[in-house]
Amino acid sequence: MIVGVPTETYPGERRVAIIPAVIPALTKAGLDVLVETGAGVAAGFLDTAYIEKGARIATDRQQVFTDADVILQVRCLGANPVAGRADLDLLRPGQTVIGFSEPLGEPDAARELAARGVSAFSMELIPRISRAQSMDALSSMATISGYKAVLLAASTLPRMFPMMMTAAGTVAPARVFVVGAGVAGLQAIASARRMGAKVEAYDVRPAVKEQVESLGATFVDLPLDTEASEDKGGYARAMDEEFYEKQRAALARVVAPMDVVICTAAIPGRKAPLLVTADAVRGMQPGSVIVDLAAETGGNCAFTRAGETSVEHGVTIIGPVNLPASVPFHASQMLSKNIVTFLLNMVTKEGVLEIDTEDEVVAGSLVTRDGDIVHPRVREVMGLPVLTPA
Ligand code: NAD
Repeated sequence: MIVGVPTETYPGERRVAIIPAVIPALTKAGLDVLVETGAGVAAGFLDTAYIEKGARIATDRQQVFTDADVILQVRCLGANPVAGRADLDLLRPGQTVIGFSEPLGEPDAARELAARGVSAFSMELIPRISRAQSMDALSSMATISGYKAVLLAASTLPRMFPMMMTAAGTVAPARVFVVGAGVAGLQAIASARRMGAKVEAYDVRPAVKEQVESLGATFVDLPLDTEASEDKGGYARAMDEEFYEKQRAALARVVAPMDVVICTAAIPGRKAPLLVTADAVRGMQPGSVIVDLAAETGGNCAFTRAGETSVEHGVTIIGPVNLPASVPFHASQMLSKNIVTFLLNMVTKEGVLEIDTEDEVVAGSLVTRDGDIVHPRVREVMGLPVLTPA
């Protein structure tokens, strides 16, 4: 079976789905790896490194799509809606595609992939169960975003993060507030602490208090009823408008004295909740910085614009997009591990792909198969009827 790794075509995407170091794991499983020339260059991996580890290099993209049985991409069509269209005609029935594809935000892409007869797996949909932890690409990319958000804040803030006692006087540590203590938020807390900032954090799920404190940060308790805030999967539930209204008012008081606010609050499959209002920003000190990791899903701050940095009332608001691509070496290393583990879970001893929908990891991430959209949540978003088992 041939596994193909094309060059990413989404603007600014510097990651690659497979790095040379994981190729021996694929070849050991009986797979042949074909990489488009230059696919890893933007992440720091040259063609020669792939060859050394046992891959072949294809000189053109078409060859990768023509020869490969399985295509491994960072961004498949849904996550690469414009440039990704060029690949549609290169796909053929029976082929398998694995990568990020924003299946709930861009479900029409699933319709097009289904029409080509390919089996498409979405990395976003891999169930976040213990067995699939090493396949959890959302967590690995969120880890990178949390780290990078702190660096963006630190390099924009007109202050230093650590406390310093020097002959020229004492420098007070920066005060950093992290909203949302999920995977990205916890990494932001850890990174800001390592840089010497005084860190406080808040999450609507009270269960994270201990995790926040174990990283040396202070958990901010807001006087809100959060009993129903966590679903059985460990995610935040969407709350009603009255709750958010109270939360915004409480948060305005918390963010006022902060030098840095890092927003990471998200509800899976929904627009991000608005938590830092225009008035709250007006209440902050000039020079302070907000980094809004929720920018791509609408932002937690009223002033956030995805992909832009603006200054409002002296406060800089950064709305980064695709932050993992700005750390392409390690982002590719982590993503490769996730993708390879996921793929090898489906490869038999004979080196053949077997799509076993009895496996919850496989069924949970399979979006299209045999010309149809088979994922229940994607079908629901598209208004398609529930599929009845054959
Ligand atoms: P996410 O990106 O969906 O959300 C980020 C954070 O925002 C969450 O902690 C959420 O509680 C918080 N949030 C949502 N609304 C908020 C509000 N109004 N105010 C403040 N905070 C708000 O979540 P994520 O980081 O991808 O994961 C969240 C949790 O899922 C983890 O902490 C963990 O419990 C669980 N998880 C489990 C596994 C696993 O078992 N393999 C892997 C990853 C995550």
